[in-house]
Amino acid sequence: MVKRTAVAPEEQPFILSSLPPGRAQRRLALAVVLALLVAFLITEVGPLSTIQLGRIDAFVPAYATAMLVNDSITAVLLFAQFSILRSPALLAISSGYLFTALMLIPWMLTFPGVFAPGGLLGAGLQSTTWIYILWHAGFPVFVIAYGLLKDADPARRLRQGSVGAAILASVATTAAVVCAATFLVTAGDALLPRISLDPVRFSTLWLYYAGCLDLLSVLALTVLWIRRRSVLDLWLMVVMCAYVIEITLIAFPVPARFSFGWYAGRIFGFLSGSLLLFVLLYEITTLYAGVLRAVLAQRREREARLMTGDAVSASIAHEIKQPLTGMITNADAGLRWLERSMPDEAKAAFEQIVADGHRAAAVIGSIRAIFKKDSRNRTSLDINQLIGEALALTRGDLQRHRIQVQAEPNAQLPQVRGDRIQLQQVLLNLITNAIDSMAAKDGPRVLCVRSEVHDGASVIVSVADTGTGIGSQELERVFNPMFTTKSGGMGMGLSICRSIIEAHDGRLWVAPNKPEGAVFQFMLLADGAASAGASRRERPEDLLVSSRP
Ligand code: ADP
Repeated sequence: MVKRTAVAPEEQPFILSSLPPGRAQRRLALAVVLALLVAFLITEVGPLSTIQLGRIDAFVPAYATAMLVNDSITAVLLFAQFSILRSPALLAISSGYLFTALMLIPWMLTFPGVFAPGGLLGAGLQSTTWIYILWHAGFPVFVIAYGLLKDADPARRLRQGSVGAAILASVATTAAVVCAATFLVTAGDALLPRISLDPVRFSTLWLYYAGCLDLLSVLALTVLWIRRRSVLDLWLMVVMCAYVIEITLIAFPVPARFSFGWYAGRIFGFLSGSLLLFVLLYEITTLYAGVLRAVLAQRREREARLMTGDAVSASIAHEIKQPLTGMITNADAGLRWLERSMPDEAKAAFEQIVADGHRAAAVIGSIRAIFKKDSRNRTSLDINQLIGEALALTRGDLQRHRIQVQAEPNAQLPQVRGDRIQLQQVLLNLITNAIDSMAAKDGPRVLCVRSEVHDGASVIVSVADTGTGIGSQELERVFNPMFTTKSGGMGMGLSICRSIIEAHDGRLWVAPNKPEGAVFQFMLLADGAASAGASRRERPEDLLVSSRP
């Protein structure tokens, strides 16, 4: 059974201390440990570690300053994680890093030759060594506390309000512990066993203390190993390995200051200090990139939603324009008939207005149906009849532009199942576009509306004109919402037509007409044909001969 961690589920996948390490990450950690071990063996086995290199004055201040900066930043980053997760374990490990950072201050102050020849505080190297022991005993204790607290009950997480207070309290406590340790080591110097014999040599006691420090670090490593779960656990284990290596290098086989082993131990110490900082920075940057991607994706999604909103309002405006124009024309005509006292003609015009009004209402209903994918209004329809109605509705325009119409009804045609208003909108749009296109140029003006049976199970309707035609670049773009080449156009007609036909499991496409113009064709399933027929092997547009007027 998987144990519950002290992490709320919503934070689980994001935070280093709750994120489980991936395979690559585990391998990298193993590689780092192996590299550390190899470097350790090379240094420790053989004469290398005992070579006396002499004192390099700049080494101690440079090393201590770098460590101080690294550990302070690590502590700040871990405190930041604590403020999100509020788990006591994170507070413990953040305090551990703060502790190591603060312990470096008395270590530098007591080290002879850094601030003063005999050290600014305490009794020279004797105090420095004791500070080192307390520092290297303290950190594993914090790690053990982290390991033991990390699977604590989630209910033990601190309340949001107490986070700042908890950080302040732990910073104050850690600083107080460091001050107390410094006071003990400097003022109580005479009471402590002598470890440092001279600037270079240590007493044999040092070996026992170093052995105990090693054991403490191994204990911390074991606790982490038993309770390992997160990326943070993994890298803390690597840090503890580096800790063991550092102490061993400094103390064994022959402890001597400024020997090769002593310098190498410091470098391992520095590596162990920097390791977690690198990992934290890497993970935080990755997380930041992920968050950025998520924010951008969210913004795109919002824009897409707004676009859909635009498309809906534009399509309503587009579809309503046609009946409205009809109503205005008929109202004008009606008024003229009334002025001339011809009530019968006026009555016909007003009846036409009523019909247009009903059509506008039906159009609004069918637009809602397209966006809701509503199929309640579908009935069995005769395409020949639909074509006849659409041509009748556009007769005025066709006559005005002196367009010759070829539209022979096809008696073989099966019924199709669909929404009458929507399919009529498609035909009206295609015919109106054909009229616009032919009106824009001179030459023969022929509109040919044909229907034929395709494959026995579907019907193909084509609307061909002899207008301006569509360039090969534009053949697909004409179906994009808002694509228009007309000054007063909205570019919604064809996009709506395609939505309607696709909502009927059909297809709508365009091809150049010969010798000029364009042919729009749509395919619909015959009533009773299974909709699987829409995904037939061959594309109908590849098979069909273009309708020629
Ligand atoms: P709109 O008519 O408002 O421009 P459509 O979506 O109906 O919107 O048409 C988009 C564009 O496709 C038109 O602006 C026009 O350039 C082109 N188009 C449509 N039908 C034809 C046609 N029959 N002949 C030539 N071009 C056409």
